[in-house]
Amino acid sequence: MALFSRIDEDGKAFLPEEGLNYMENREKSPELCRYAKKCGGCQYQGVPYEKQLKKKQKEAEGLLGGIVKVEKIIGMQTPFHYRNKVNAAFKRTRQGKIISGIYREGTHEVVDISECRIEDKRADAIIRDIKELLASFKIKIYDEDSGYGLLRHVMVRTGHVSGEVMVVLVLASPVLPSKNNFVKALRKLHPEITTVVLNVNDRHTSMVLGGRNIPLYGRGYIEDTLCGHVFRISPTSFYQVNSVQTEILYKKALEYAALTGTEKVIDAYCGIGTIGMAAAAAAKEVIGVELNASAVRDAAVNAKRNRVKNIAFFNRDAGEFMHELAEVKEPVDVVFMDPPRAGSTETFMDAVAHLAPSRVVYVSCNPKTLARDLRYFEKKGYCPVMCQPVDMFPFTDEIEVVCLLSQLRSDQHRGR
Ligand code: SAH
Repeated sequence: MALFSRIDEDGKAFLPEEGLNYMENREKSPELCRYAKKCGGCQYQGVPYEKQLKKKQKEAEGLLGGIVKVEKIIGMQTPFHYRNKVNAAFKRTRQGKIISGIYREGTHEVVDISECRIEDKRADAIIRDIKELLASFKIKIYDEDSGYGLLRHVMVRTGHVSGEVMVVLVLASPVLPSKNNFVKALRKLHPEITTVVLNVNDRHTSMVLGGRNIPLYGRGYIEDTLCGHVFRISPTSFYQVNSVQTEILYKKALEYAALTGTEKVIDAYCGIGTIGMAAAAAAKEVIGVELNASAVRDAAVNAKRNRVKNIAFFNRDAGEFMHELAEVKEPVDVVFMDPPRAGSTETFMDAVAHLAPSRVVYVSCNPKTLARDLRYFEKKGYCPVMCQPVDMFPFTDEIEVVCLLSQLRSDQHRGR
């Protein structure tokens, strides 16, 4: 199988180049999802897919067009049921009915949803059945106001290629009465479940997951294949939710990096190491840096598991780490960076400028902070060359962009 091949809904592998032909889905499903009005999770429900792409292109051009050339957005061939991670909040209504779904935008009001067009279908079916099982196991729903009750959320993560399924029960206490029987009953209904984890969230917080994970069944994580490597994904580690489009995005990032096998590469904000691992085969050495300890543990295991020897990971703040590399004048040729929505920091970008790599490849899930950071990078001698939007989140207004920046030669820099 080619490095970036992927699997379509019928289980056939195909190359992303073929996937770009999404014509047949262009006008698909303009009708409104029945939860659309109440839920608000999909801002573009009822909008034909081709139109969604046009809107995103326009927005990307509006925010970035003045700074960099914006390529045509790459859409998804089948823009449905792409989310490999599904979170369901649970609530007991005043009438005593148990409902599950997502919070209505900007509130803590649970919208009762039993199926969703962008979520993995297996995950939705498991959540529906957990809702049915709760009463017979006398599992009480946690009440945010009183702090009474046990079950807060259920998260399901599915492996796009591996088919592995992880169910995370987020509870207010580490004690789940008759846990073995509960797991048994759930697995009887869904033998596809490969692991069940109890996540303890005993704080008064709007964060879904707490810090402690107790495996109740299986390994406590799932594995999946992305860009030809197998990745371990733990409950709290970041992993892109749309595996199909992620391969396209990373392929573009690697193309921009134009590695020749001799480069020293940084993968900043690396998560479980997905970009760095994809780059390692074409680089001399890769260093990954990431703040989340469990993601870094996964990253180290992933490198070993895939026998990638020229990569190392550090559990640090990316800005501080880069600053230290700059102080010791570590030679760096290419920097990949994939910060969270808030974007990067001046400390980080100052350090990049000191390290003076010839190229920076910036993956962003927020074109607003990307635009801000590109302007800062320009002041530091890095010119945005081009950027490629990829539709990672069909039916929502989220935009993902990968951008190439190139170091200006000193004569070019002075002239600006
Ligand atoms: N490149 C990865 C992860 C991108 S998401 C992938 O594609 O899967 C952004 C990542 O940045 C998250 O894993 C988050 O934990 C990490 N992060 C957030 N703030 C950070 C900081 N200050 N320093 C290093 N990593 C950070």
